Amino acid sequence: MTSRNHLLFEQSQQYIPGGVNSPVRAFKSVGGEPVFFQRGEGAYFWDADGKSYIDYVGSWGPLILGHAHPEVVKAVHIAAQNGLTFGAPTEAELEIAKLICQLVPSIEQVRLVSSGTEAGMSAIRLARGFTGRSKIIKFEGCYHGHDDSLLVKAGSGALTFGNPSSAGVPAETAGHTIVLDYNDIASIDAAFNQWGKEIAAVIVEPVAGNMNLVAPRTDFLTRLRALCTQNGSVLIFDEVMTGFRVGLGCAQGLYQIKPDLTTLGKVIGGGMPMAAFGGRRDIMQCLAPLGPVYQAGTLSGNPVAVAAGLATLKLIQAPGFYDKLSNRTQQLVDGIAIKARNHGVDFCTQFIGGMFGLYFSKKIPGSFAEVMQCDKTAFNRFFHAMLEEGIYFAPSAFEAGFVSSAHGDNELDKTLYAADKIFKNW
Ligand code: PMP
Repeated sequence: MTSRNHLLFEQSQQYIPGGVNSPVRAFKSVGGEPVFFQRGEGAYFWDADGKSYIDYVGSWGPLILGHAHPEVVKAVHIAAQNGLTFGAPTEAELEIAKLICQLVPSIEQVRLVSSGTEAGMSAIRLARGFTGRSKIIKFEGCYHGHDDSLLVKAGSGALTFGNPSSAGVPAETAGHTIVLDYNDIASIDAAFNQWGKEIAAVIVEPVAGNMNLVAPRTDFLTRLRALCTQNGSVLIFDEVMTGFRVGLGCAQGLYQIKPDLTTLGKVIGGGMPMAAFGGRRDIMQCLAPLGPVYQAGTLSGNPVAVAAGLATLKLIQAPGFYDKLSNRTQQLVDGIAIKARNHGVDFCTQFIGGMFGLYFSKKIPGSFAEVMQCDKTAFNRFFHAMLEEGIYFAPSAFEAGFVSSAHGDNELDKTLYAADKIFKNW
């Protein structure tokens, strides 16, 4: 019998380019056909053929509470009943803005948008408008959304396709983007020496999660902070992935570094399309209607999305939430690593809060170049074997993985059992 997944994929390819609405979903990197999903609950989701999977992707980060958390769903229901959108301010927007500012002290003012791409694009425009400069620095393998000036040597799907820059980005636009190596302090020093006073902004993932997971060297973020301060450049932390994922204070709380601007997404929308950018009041006040930098959105601060975000942000403030999440993540990755070691497979892992990296390599990579040396063929084999066992990891060797508060002992046991079986026959 032909699977419904397969039929849906075949038909989708006729109407949707590549059959998907975001490229990395297409399984191009790992080969095979994508799985179509119908329903999710807690740590599990079910495909179009009724097969269940333990989900370690969590919609690429938002689902820190697992699928369809009852309190988030309830908040969405209530908000929807009161009207789907007004295109005018609401009290709930004030509530979430206050909460974000409280939880992330570097954010004095915040504006809500609908995607991480919008947040990154707007933060860059704002930094340019504020400084009157054009050049920006980004790091190879970091992904900040698909804005033209940021789609240069980007990570995630852009890496998966071996297509670091996109067609359709004018050379003039990309020409303002200086791309450096993540964790390479000498190269940032050199760039600031050469262009210091022309640099509007440095944008960085404080933990890189779009080239697998690469942790920042201790002095990397500190040096960025110092150079931006010395040169009057805006330091932007892209915390779309790390925000409320690595800890309640985000990565900036973990590493005790105060960026000038921060972008947020994923977790703050609780699974609905919402993201945000915010930071220093003097910079944020350059935005329209107060200042000359234009930025807007019909559905920005959408009441249903805000309700999902607020419900999520309330639940993650429970005492011990992040300790439990980190412990679970550690048990998962340590457990898989032990199974690999027992069967002599070159494999290692690391985790930060609720995000993790899996590397088919002897050593944890600390740079983009080292990530590229990991054994991608081995990852693809592992991915498909685990998928067969009902364990869903990101369909690419260049993505971080995520654990939710709904992942319990049962799910860990099943995952480790599957990993053991696969590595035994490696
Ligand atoms: N920044 C980072 C660090 C991301 O991981 C992503 C998405 N994976 C984005 C920005 C873009 O967000 P979105 O897909 O919501 O546009």
